[in-house]
Amino acid sequence: MIVPMEVQRIALRKGYLSPGIVLGWRIAAYLEEFFDGLDLLRVQAAKESDMVFSLRLMVAWRRAAPLLLPRGNPTCDLLVYHPVTGTLLLLTGSERQVELPRHVQLLEPRLAGNDLRARTIYRSAVQSLVDRLLVARVEALCSIEEHRLRRLHPAAARVAKVRCRRCDAQVSFHHLWDLDGVLCCLRCTGLPPEWFDRQ
Ligand SMILES: [Zn+2]
Repeated sequence: MIVPMEVQRIALRKGYLSPGIVLGWRIAAYLEEFFDGLDLLRVQAAKESDMVFSLRLMVAWRRAAPLLLPRGNPTCDLLVYHPVTGTLLLLTGSERQVELPRHVQLLEPRLAGNDLRARTIYRSAVQSLVDRLLVARVEALCSIEEHRLRRLHPAAARVAKVRCRRCDAQVSFHHLWDLDGVLCCLRCTGLPPEWFDRQ
């Protein structure tokens, strides 16, 4: 299958083409269509990977906010927030999709040597996984949870205190969020506090 030009550009930057790179590109394209562009998105990934490398480049090329890695334990592979529409997407299970079959993974130590058979089998397994990732529906490649999330009133009086309905912490009214109809604090939304540090 022909690999799209944009995927080739990403692979060139990385130094190789991998299933993770294709998956990151597919997810970026999905988000771009879902939100009608990537430029207003905020994205946090659970950890570095080829998928995240690819997505990070796509986000940078579309001039979106830089992709973050979390400081604490992440609950999903990717957290995507679109402040304009108040849409929060949580993507999980994506890393499993880029794993090669076990018998192919076992060939990895033999790839550096002159074992042509091992290299041929490995290359063909990577190619068939890449082909599958290029055509599969993104919804079939990871689980996608959608939530409504909006800051209640950023300009509200800072003196008023209310309780978070999730953790019961007291928070200023202007730090309150509406997550699927439940008023809660920023920590309970799961959004990285770095995004709002200066507000
Ligand atoms: Zn809370």
